[in-house]
Amino acid sequence: MLTLKDNFDRKFEYLRLSITDECNFKCNYCLPDGYQRSHQNEFLSHQEIKHLVSAFTELGTKKVRITGGEPSLRKDFPAIIESISNFDGIQKIATTTNGYRLQKDAQHWFDAGLDAINVSVDSLDANTFHLITGKNIFQKVMDGVSACVDAGYKQVKINSVLMKGVNDKDLDLYINWIKTQPIQLRFIELMQTGDNAEFFDKHHLSGLWIKEKLLNEGWVQKIPLSHDGPAQIFAHDEFQGEIGLIMPYSKDFCKSCNRLRVSSTGKLHLCLFGEQGVDLRDLLVDASQKEALKERILLALNDKKESHYLQSGNTGVTPHLASIGG
Ligand code: SAM
Ligand code: SF4
Repeated sequence: MLTLKDNFDRKFEYLRLSITDECNFKCNYCLPDGYQRSHQNEFLSHQEIKHLVSAFTELGTKKVRITGGEPSLRKDFPAIIESISNFDGIQKIATTTNGYRLQKDAQHWFDAGLDAINVSVDSLDANTFHLITGKNIFQKVMDGVSACVDAGYKQVKINSVLMKGVNDKDLDLYINWIKTQPIQLRFIELMQTGDNAEFFDKHHLSGLWIKEKLLNEGWVQKIPLSHDGPAQIFAHDEFQGEIGLIMPYSKDFCKSCNRLRVSSTGKLHLCLFGEQGVDLRDLLVDASQKEALKERILLALNDKKESHYLQSGNTGVTPHLASIGG
């Protein structure tokens, strides 16, 4: 069986697939002025998504994460989940969502075949949540998180971007919360994108600060599993939940890269940062193009760079992460 490997011996069994750029939130670090359409292209159709995932599974993809923008804004989101989960090679299908529709739809998505869910909750304080996201719906999102636990998802994770002077004061609240909740908190270090340079300079907080605090408080770093990717995971005997740190500016972050990305308009991105992407769309028209599609993907992988070079201030061509599926 073919596998997706690059010149640095990294294996890519994980596809992050963006199905829309659109979003109904205005997160201050991502889309502070709300979503503005910047292209005329249609988003990938359900049929194109099926052709794409079919080729990726034949190249060894085992896990797909559906992301965006806000993926649940698409009316055919449950149907897309169902189609992807029907591919034989797919062992896990996950999504990342802002939680807007969770309370209502967590169970439907689970029934459609979704295994795992990451919900972005950038503060545990309702006012700060409102300030960050532009939406005064903290309790609704938290009820959505409970709905996921009740529905029986294998994995419920909470993503939070901790920012200096914005929500860093919430760290202890988060940690206390998972004493009794079997949830993995994932603190994602704020990344600089094309659009947020000034915001980044003011609010970037190194994940090393959190790591030091955790180690001082008796948390223990777990030995990484191959599917953890670049996250560093910490556990503590007295806590039911775990903490994952995503520190893109740390040394060696890219060494454990295990993912490829396809944008909502069908471009293959080898990295979150730094390139225009390889257009796959002309090969998503019908199933007979699958071999050519696989060849193009394999060929593109030769160009994957060793690092994102974010440390050197590179933000590449990525204006914000909603445009590529963070
Ligand atoms: N709308 C969905 C959501 O917010 O969960 C999915 C898309 S969003 C781009 C995916 C993840 O990227 C979210 O957890 C968000 O917090 C994170 N993100 C967006 N911009 C970021 C940035 N500049 N630095 C770090 N994380 C970012
Ligand atoms: Fe929307 Fe997600 Fe970006 Fe927030 S982080 S603006 S929810 S795409």
